[in-house]
Amino acid sequence: MALREIIQVGDSRLRERARPVRALTPEIQQLIEDMIETMHENDGIGLAAVQLGDLHRVIVIQLPEDEEVWGSGELYVVINPEIVKASREVEIGIEGCLSVRGYVGEVERPTEVLVRGQNQQGERFRLRPRGFLARVFQHEIDHLDGVLYIDRLVAPDRIWEVKPGTEEAVEASEEMAVEVSQP
Ligand code: ZN
Repeated sequence: MALREIIQVGDSRLRERARPVRALTPEIQQLIEDMIETMHENDGIGLAAVQLGDLHRVIVIQLPEDEEVWGSGELYVVINPEIVKASREVEIGIEGCLSVRGYVGEVERPTEVLVRGQNQQGERFRLRPRGFLARVFQHEIDHLDGVLYIDRLVAPDRIWEVKPGTEEAVEASEEMAVEVSQP
């Protein structure tokens, strides 16, 4: 495994449409291992291959099951993911991105989606994430089409600067999440 650099907004590769994975080659398996390691190392909860400058349709997602322990929840590796259905119900929530360091912003998303894709063994599967997990799936799949959450802000001013990796950032996002969830 190897850590790879996460490319940042302004890099034109983040705006390209990633191409489907046709075969699970050793390179793709290596890419997946590197994505998982890089996500963990950066305390991320999701990563798309394009964020490492690799234009294949691959995402990894892992929410912390225990709030204190990053990478403790279920790990999802999805190759060629697709959203086949989205709920009419939407909610506004806070998003950040490892390719837009130092910021979080408010985005409206469907609360539930039906995702189809292939796992690391190439087997097809579907899953129906809800709530925050559904949000993360939509965010990562957006990356594969060159879309960033900053393109989807509920309003241009609904984005805030935070200090990444500090308590302050965590507190700031929690506060905002509370503020936003109030009717
Ligand atoms: Zn992102």
